[in-house]
Amino acid sequence: MREIKTKGGIGTEIYVKPNPKEKYWDPEIETMDPEKIKEYQLEHLKYMVKYCYDNSPYYRKAFDEAGVDPNKIKTLGDTKYLPFTTKQVERERQEASPDFGDMTCVSEEEIVYASASSGSTGVPTISPFTARDLDEFQDYEARLFWSIGMRPEDRYVHALNFTLFVGGPDVIGAMRTGALGVWAGTIPSERLLFILKSFKATMTWTTPSYAWHLGETAKKQGMDPRKDFNLKKIIVAGEPGGSIHSTRRAIEDLWGAELYDFYGLSDLFGANAGMCEAKNGLHIYEDHHIVEVLNPDTLEPVGDMERGELVLTTLRKMARPMIRFRTGDIVTVTHEVCECGRTHPRIMGIHGRLDDMLIITGVNVFPSDIEAVVRGDKRLTGEYRINVYKEQHLDRFDVEVEKVNSVSIDKETLSKEVKNAIKTRVGIAPRNVIILEDGTLPRATHKAKRVIDKRKGVWSE
Ligand SMILES: [Zn+2]
Repeated sequence: MREIKTKGGIGTEIYVKPNPKEKYWDPEIETMDPEKIKEYQLEHLKYMVKYCYDNSPYYRKAFDEAGVDPNKIKTLGDTKYLPFTTKQVERERQEASPDFGDMTCVSEEEIVYASASSGSTGVPTISPFTARDLDEFQDYEARLFWSIGMRPEDRYVHALNFTLFVGGPDVIGAMRTGALGVWAGTIPSERLLFILKSFKATMTWTTPSYAWHLGETAKKQGMDPRKDFNLKKIIVAGEPGGSIHSTRRAIEDLWGAELYDFYGLSDLFGANAGMCEAKNGLHIYEDHHIVEVLNPDTLEPVGDMERGELVLTTLRKMARPMIRFRTGDIVTVTHEVCECGRTHPRIMGIHGRLDDMLIITGVNVFPSDIEAVVRGDKRLTGEYRINVYKEQHLDRFDVEVEKVNSVSIDKETLSKEVKNAIKTRVGIAPRNVIILEDGTLPRATHKAKRVIDKRKGVWSE
């Protein structure tokens, strides 16, 4: 990646841009033989477990309690003996040992960047990075951007939150590809549309609901998202929508652009996995993570393409390594080699968060499955809301959807058909499918809240 030499600006003698013809950002790692990757991981796991034991009071205690001797890690399979970490543990350790928590393995002098996640419940959790961590984080982001085809001729508008959010610095990763990075952040829709249009941006990154909302806003202002903009590729993250086929198609149709799903965890990186140009699953790279998918009840591994909770162990983060971090995200993963030639596993579906999962009369219902039905039906606007409640001690749910104004079908027939489609996909039928007029449901400007669970009396996030 160091072939084209161009003169840089003031204070820079020479700045080298990557060669746009290269298919991979890091060919050796990205196409490494899976057996070689395992060797690499084992070597790093051994080092990391010992490093955590020697440098973090929390990990030392947790390993001792679990009977883990850092010198006795012999195979990758030994990962299963390591204790889990969770968001809860992260918060507790941070409160017990301010400011960075005793999971942290370095002194504050070595920390150059810390993000903070707002979280829905109180205390923000802080994610610290050493200079090397930050550098590797941005190299990783560059790898993800490069694999969707970002090149030096691109103009990229970064429309993620810069305020404390770990996704903010990802714009640096984009700039490493040589693309022009525009630091937009979360600005009002009208302003963002203006920026996208006047900069002739070729790529941007936002949430799926916002990408949808932004396109609708453009239309309301008399613009045609397909013609009046230069957007070729839209990256989305933060909600399952980017991996739901019908949602993807709807946003791609609206903008006339390709949609790529990225997945990140505020506790680790801005994005930990991303689609390549084949758009068939999100590559998650094993030089940085040990990837486990476990049955959340038994905590035993599930097979390829079976739903389970994603559990990640970081292999290269020095400030605060995460050992067997339970992400709370329900995914399906495949180890089949992608047509792009990258050998690392792919997340084929992000079905929602464990805490999003509704248990309705004993059936696991993911709002993302209902979304897939709603977004796949051209007669509906794509907006929806799910209401869960009790009726004579039984769990019930209603789904509110909106009919596109120009479609002429009687509401009763449409309701029946949507109900059947949901039953086929989810396993149980909603009590009612309520057909509303276009524009009735609230439009999301950030992450959409689409579930009201009256059984608990609160919004379910
Ligand atoms: Zn691929």
